[in-house]
Amino acid sequence: MSQATHPVVFVGAGPGAADLITLRGAQRLAAAEVVLADALADPGLRSLAPQAEWLDVGKRGFCDSTRQAAINALLVRLARAGRRVLRLKGGDASVFGRLEEELAALAAAGLAAEVVPGITAAAAAAAHTQRPLTRRGAGRSVALATAMTQHGLDAGSAPRADSEVFYMAGRQLGRLARQLLAAGWPADTPACVVSRAGCADALASDHRLADLAGAAVLHAGRPAVVTVGVAARPVEPARRPASQAAPEKPCRIDAAQAAGL
Ligand code: SAH
Repeated sequence: MSQATHPVVFVGAGPGAADLITLRGAQRLAAAEVVLADALADPGLRSLAPQAEWLDVGKRGFCDSTRQAAINALLVRLARAGRRVLRLKGGDASVFGRLEEELAALAAAGLAAEVVPGITAAAAAAAHTQRPLTRRGAGRSVALATAMTQHGLDAGSAPRADSEVFYMAGRQLGRLARQLLAAGWPADTPACVVSRAGCADALASDHRLADLAGAAVLHAGRPAVVTVGVAARPVEPARRPASQAAPEKPCRIDAAQAAGL
């Protein structure tokens, strides 16, 4: 008779700072027996599951298929043994997180899973710079893209959306810019680089595609996303139309109205 199993819980840890995990994610951590985590950006996350055994399965590089296979096998083995397994991933598990492979491995073993969403780096970067990812009118679509493929950097063809947020491009900003220019993005397209978004030491810098390479030194060695297009533009202060000029006298709020009567 096999042991009763618990669903494997995938939790998006957010972009690094421990307080950007969701409440649900923190609750699941508090109930976990074993946590499989990539290298943690904030050790504070560990204190959310002091009772659990922590296994560091951090991967370096893009195509480490042996390592991925080992993680898949470990998830299956631990869940089959009846342990409460939590797989902690940076940002949101569904965004460039190899979630597909791990869910597929569990499904093949007949094991259940739960996925708890997290704050992805693109959202954390937009929050840090206070530049909304979508804009009324001009910014109606956003693509989450990676410039890295198994064969190296490939930023793709023509623009896919009004704005694109590139993950995993930090080390190759110059090449990314050249590929985007070759693909048809205008040289004066705004590009904003944010590294360690959501963390206390987050950094942001503004560029045009033509000079994006200049960001490399500032963000060296830090996880960074590059937002290109409309969403990279700063929000402009609202201009008040003349017809809505400030009233000469402050508005008087009727006491009864203020009380909701
Ligand atoms: N699942 C993650 C992405 C994993 S891929 C998410 O949803 O955010 C790893 C890439 O994410 C890094 O190369 C970098 O491009 C980006 N990234 C992760 N954390 C980041 C952060 N705090 N600030 C900026 N970019 C970050």
